Amino acid sequence: DDNRDSSQADRIQHFRESAIAEGYLCRNIPKQYGGSEQPADALRGQVIREEFDAAHAPMEPRGIGTMMLVPTLLDRGEEWQKEKFVGPTIRGEITWCQGYSEPGSGSDLASLMTKGEIDGDDWVINGQKIWTSGAKHANYMFCLVRTEPDAKKHAGISYLLIDMKSPGIDVRPLRQMTGSSEFNEVFLNDVRTPKDWIVGKRGEGWLVSRTTLKHERNSIGGAAQTLSLLNALVDLAKTRKIDGRPAIEDPGIR
Ligand SMILES: Cc1cc2nc3c(=O)[nH]c(=O)nc-3n(C[C@H](O)[C@H](O)[C@H](O)COP(=O)(O)OP(=O)(O)OC[C@H]3O[C@@H](n4cnc5c(N)ncnc54)[C@H](O)[C@@H]3O)c2cc1C
Repeated sequence: DDNRDSSQADRIQHFRESAIAEGYLCRNIPKQYGGSEQPADALRGQVIREEFDAAHAPMEPRGIGTMMLVPTLLDRGEEWQKEKFVGPTIRGEITWCQGYSEPGSGSDLASLMTKGEIDGDDWVINGQKIWTSGAKHANYMFCLVRTEPDAKKHAGISYLLIDMKSPGIDVRPLRQMTGSSEFNEVFLNDVRTPKDWIVGKRGEGWLVSRTTLKHERNSIGGAAQTLSLLNALVDLAKTRKIDGRPAIEDPGIR
């Protein structure tokens, strides 16, 4: 029920705060933005993740915001952007989606056509994104937008932050064959975002996006959490039966 859910959420939040205070979580995030600011030590970080995972202890909230946007802002964001967005993101108070792919721009991402123009104190954005994971429930989107139409294609892109509640955003879930809808189309029709909600300078969006993608690749390699998923799958295969025998004895399943 709701009460149990909220007390469980409170306990997780309290545990995370204690783990940050002890230097276990958010190790590479400065204290001023809510992290534990530990000296860089990849081995120690990995041991902590594996032990937390083995104990089923809460870690940092998973998601595009913590894994990809926060490190990007720490590397390339303005001071006010770090102060406004990093803390709430690592505490799980706000979530993000990634507006990169477009119907005609997947592998050739730099050909993207969603357009951004300055009007007064705002960017006005028009275009369409696709495959946007989690867009239906995200609070914000980091988005690649063509702002310098006369520049060469990689040099004409800017990295903008957009509030998903802004008028003109239409999120349409894409239904998968499994029945779930993790991906979405996002239509942007005269969407306004403040002029300074840009990470890096105008036309530097490709550079900033490469910072984000570097962290996406790192997160894909996160073996600690993947290992517990694999173990859960093996347990499932041992308990489920196919034709009266444990599924794990089926060569196809193995
Ligand atoms: C699980 C998942 C989550 C995703 N989440 C997001 C998200 O949150 N936000 C977001 O922006 N995007 C997201 N994407 C989209 C993903 O980044 C795109 O699928 C990717 O950019 C590829 O684009 P595409 O699907 O249009 O494929 P295409 O670019 O059309 O490629 C199709 C095939 O053609 C091949 N190909 C393409 N060009 C060439 C070439 N010149 N020569 C030879 N072969 C070629 C490719 O290798 C591929 O096999 C997600 C994708 C997946 C699978």
